[in-house]
Amino acid sequence: MASFPVLVLNSGSSSIKFGIYEAAGDQRIKLFEGAVDGIGTELGKFWMKDGEGRKIIDETPALPNRAVAFALVSDALHSGKFPSPLAIGHRTVCGGPSISENQHITTELIDEIDSHSALAPLHTPIAVYIMREALKLFPGVPNFAVLDTYFHRTMSELVKAMPIPAEFAAMGVRRYGYHGISYESIIHQLRPNVPEKLIVAHLGNGASMTAIRNGECVDTSMGLTPTGGIISGTRTGDIDPGVLLFMLNKIAETGVSAKEAADQLETLVSKKSGLLGMSQLSNDMRDLRGAIDDGNVQARLAVDKFVWTIQKWIGSFVAELGGLDMLVFTGGIGENDIASRAEMCAGLEALGIRVDAERNNVRGAAVISAADSRVIVRVIPPAEDLMIVNHVMRLLAEQPSPESALEAQIA
Ligand code: ADP
Repeated sequence: MASFPVLVLNSGSSSIKFGIYEAAGDQRIKLFEGAVDGIGTELGKFWMKDGEGRKIIDETPALPNRAVAFALVSDALHSGKFPSPLAIGHRTVCGGPSISENQHITTELIDEIDSHSALAPLHTPIAVYIMREALKLFPGVPNFAVLDTYFHRTMSELVKAMPIPAEFAAMGVRRYGYHGISYESIIHQLRPNVPEKLIVAHLGNGASMTAIRNGECVDTSMGLTPTGGIISGTRTGDIDPGVLLFMLNKIAETGVSAKEAADQLETLVSKKSGLLGMSQLSNDMRDLRGAIDDGNVQARLAVDKFVWTIQKWIGSFVAELGGLDMLVFTGGIGENDIASRAEMCAGLEALGIRVDAERNNVRGAAVISAADSRVIVRVIPPAEDLMIVNHVMRLLAEQPSPESALEAQIA
């Protein structure tokens, strides 16, 4: 079967990750992956690894802006050392209220996504920039937007709505949910045995949880932005709006402009809060566990708050689903932090959740529930890039013809 190289681009607020995959029939093989990290700093990182994990680029360039960062990716991809992609998939955090389906990227689509960048100011501007650059990078190669919000499109209007004046709802302010590609990849890996009532906890630097019935999203913890929901590395999660007003008033007292005050508030709630803000030490669970071992009280409180919040969400999702068949942990903490998993499940026996200490003593994929646990508890690493490649291949097959894809792209 002919091999088909697909480039996956995944842009964050300070990084651009990329991977080249070979798709042949149902097979997906990772050929190369890489990242430029630390955009906006003097000492960034640029690395690439081959499919076997061997480093082929390892540099520490200055990365003053995203243009310099993307130029490194673009030069590497054009160096002739890597197969030229025949399709490109863009991980797209949020497309705005009118775009809920994964789709072929046209200049109109980029403009539409761009027009709603105020809804996701940390993620959309760089995603839009990368889309525009990628269209120029490989002319004629079809690009596709694969949305993190796509998996959550099945949430009911009740779940999506926010209790705010209707005029803001009309501007697209509602619950969208994120980490959707990770959740889809968990369902994909569970097939054909997807349980009826499932909760997945994606616990990485950003953390969220989703309630899933028969493979479809019922509810998720993140809301309008990834700052909502459960607390995570540097984000508050859901919080009393009075706290935001208190902070905003304190910032306003310094005499800054309204825009500057809003930017500072954004930084406080999305980059300086969560595990980092509470511990005043780190947003990295490994550091926090080390500090807890050394008796650090603030680190203990931060991690306890994280665990407590997740337990409350599990409880509310069980109520929403009317029971639970399986609980899955994924993301860096979900896959690796044995102590967090044990703490999160302790005390949930009444919900049928019992973890076996020995089985839980692992990193990576495993079933960690006790033999007599009513709920199966599993650890499953996400496979987001593979999910993006799958969507690209499906969307490509739906394109009328390569010529019409190109016409639509340059229209
Ligand atoms: P991102 O959201 O940036 O993709 P990851 O999914 O990589 O984040 O998760 C990062 C988190 O995983 C960090 O808090 C890190 O401490 C935690 N983590 C990674 N490895 C371990 C480990 N061995 N033990 C405990 N925590 C870990």
